[in-house]
Parts: sequence; C-alpha cells; structure tokens
Amino acid sequence: MSLRLEKVVVTYGRDAARTTVLDGVDLEFTPGTLTALTGPSGSGKSTLLAVAGALLRPDSGSVLLDGEDIAPLGDAARARVRRERIGYMFQSGNLLPGLTVLDQVLTIAHVNGRRPARYRDRAAEVLETVGLGHRLGHRPEQLSGGERQRTALARALLLEPSVLLIDEPTAAADRSQAADLAALLADCAERQGCTAAVATHDPAVTAAAGRVVDMAP
Ligand code: ADP
Ligand code: MG
Repeated sequence: MSLRLEKVVVTYGRDAARTTVLDGVDLEFTPGTLTALTGPSGSGKSTLLAVAGALLRPDSGSVLLDGEDIAPLGDAARARVRRERIGYMFQSGNLLPGLTVLDQVLTIAHVNGRRPARYRDRAAEVLETVGLGHRLGHRPEQLSGGERQRTALARALLLEPSVLLIDEPTAAADRSQAADLAALLADCAERQGCTAAVATHDPAVTAAAGRVVDMAP
C-alpha cells in the first residue's frame, strides 16, 4: 500500500509556546521497503509516525493511503484505518502483564472484532518467524527485553498490516540484538511487501533499512 505525506504541518502548543514540529513535510514511503527516519531527539520522528499512522491529525497537509487522504477523516473513520491497515510497534512494546506471548499476539485479533481462536495457528507461525516459537506460553515478566520487543513485532504483524510503523525498537536492546531485530524488520517489510517506517537513531537499524530519511532540521 502506498503511503505519501504531502505538505504536512504539525504544531504543538499555542501562543508563545507554539512550536512547529513538522513544517511542510513531503515524504513517500515505498511498499516492501523499510524506511528509517533518523535525526536527533526532538526532530519530529515520533510525530511523523503518529501522523502517518492516523493517531494524530496534522494541522494541514495530506496523508495519502493508496491515494485516499486520511488526514481529514473523523475519529471513528481514523480508528478504523488504524485497526484495519496499520501495525504499530512502539519502544516499550506495551505488553499486557500476565498474558502469555501467544495471547499478547492474539489481542490484536480481539481488538479487530475477530475471533482470536481462528488466529491461533497464524499467531504461532508469526511467533516462529520472529524467533519466539519456543516461548508461546511465557509471560512478559519471564522474557528478556529483546523477546518482549519481538512479541510486540509479532502482534503488529498478525493481521498482515499494509503499513507497519515502528518507534525506536532497539532503545533497550544490546548491539547484537539490535542488529538481529533490524534485520528482522527489513525482512518482514520485504517478504510481506508492507510499507514500513522505523524511527531510530541506531546505526544498526539504518544499516538494515532500504532507505534512510534524515529529519534533522
Ligand atoms: P522525536 O521522536 O524525533 O524525538 P517528537 O516527535 O517526539 O520527536 O517531538 C518533536 C518535538 O515536539 C519535541 O520538541 C517535543 O518536545 C514536542 N512534542 C512532542 N509531543 C508533544 C506534545 N504532545 N505536546 C507538546 N509538544 C510535543
Ligand atoms: Mg521519538
């Protein structure tokens, strides 16, 4: 699915505290490619992902998903776009305490109003792909940081989203985990043909990405 931002403007705050974080950003993401967004902290990487992922409405500009502008959509329609087309993986992983790895992944089917039981095989398969085939019954507190992140990635991939958005996935990983996770992300984008964007300042991730966009002002 093609994803294109046109003249996107985002400001936070008002009056004297008003700051323009994205000032007319034009950016196209290519299906099947992992695009890395780099730049110093505060350069707007997370904001850009939020706009691309229909989590935040820009002040102006267009966010074109397969040519359809999702920027002006109302809350309900944007929630639907998020559920049906976008997979998210954020820094902390946001796993639910007490749920097994398999059930963490199945929550996304539940959120989409689908019967989790029908997705068990697919969930186990995706977990196998991310190297967690032997951890299906583990709970978050029994996992390493890297395993938690890969659980979050499997959850994001369960319903084969057209767009995959990832924010600072390796912040808590050591060097060799970061390289493995980066390779996995690039591979997922290529194999599933999804449009994937990752905000990062980790050289291991930019090295694995098919394209790097520097957001430094
Ligand atoms: P990055 O992910 O590159 O670190 P962010 O998109 O998180 O950058 O933030 C860009 C700028 O916007 C920062 O200066 C940050 O303080 C500011 N900012 C982010 N979110 C908010 C918010 N909800 N309200 C006000 N300012 C914000
Ligand atoms: Mg950020």
